[in-house]
Amino acid sequence: MMEDSFQHKGLRKKLVDEIRRKGITDEKVLEAIHKVPRHLFMDSGFIKFAYRDQAFPIRAGQTISQPYTVAFQTQLLDLHPRHKVLEVGTGSGYQAAVLVEMGAAVYTLERQKELYLMAQSLLGSLNYRLHFFYGDGYQGLPTYGPFDRILITAAAPEIPEKLLEQLKPGGRLVLPLGGSGSQVMTLIEKKGEGDFVRSDHGLFVFVPMLGGKE
Ligand code: SAH
Repeated sequence: MMEDSFQHKGLRKKLVDEIRRKGITDEKVLEAIHKVPRHLFMDSGFIKFAYRDQAFPIRAGQTISQPYTVAFQTQLLDLHPRHKVLEVGTGSGYQAAVLVEMGAAVYTLERQKELYLMAQSLLGSLNYRLHFFYGDGYQGLPTYGPFDRILITAAAPEIPEKLLEQLKPGGRLVLPLGGSGSQVMTLIEKKGEGDFVRSDHGLFVFVPMLGGKE
């Protein structure tokens, strides 16, 4: 069931070559994508497509992000080992596993109980060590911050103010900004208290970031 075969590893190598061709240059990110067994994060009906560079449906009407998108967001984070990272939108846990492979101390937050529980049990069984939280990403994790990096993996209609507060000076927030349809991948660099630099990095499509918990 939880097998990671030579065939899976071979498919993963091809996937890494594909996203490198699409423009991902950070070798540490590519290495992390190469290590995480994405097929184990997918519902059984989709396992055979696990190493296609596509998003797929998971439970609770959500999706596991496209590997290229995961790599793009991770590259934009400019992550260093031991960085403290908050991820908003645990979903399948795939992106969180990539962050752990990069050597980060990961705090991941999910508003849907079912997904929170599933990701926690799956990543535990794969021996990934990180912190799981059931809650609302708009609130962040004030008692665990501040963070070196914050990554939002759902479409945010506006920049969540509380997350800017939970970012260290020198920190980075990466989020798909916009409503339904498509969003602009946005990088916010916190230079100091109240001093932010924003840049845009192309169009992507995410499921919406919703308030509250389910
Ligand atoms: N990072 C995930 C992608 C998940 S899709 C992966 O690698 O599989 C986006 C996720 O964000 C969904 O699971 C959705 O339930 C969650 N989400 C949406 N709004 C949220 C919020 N306000 N707080 C926390 N999680 C949220």
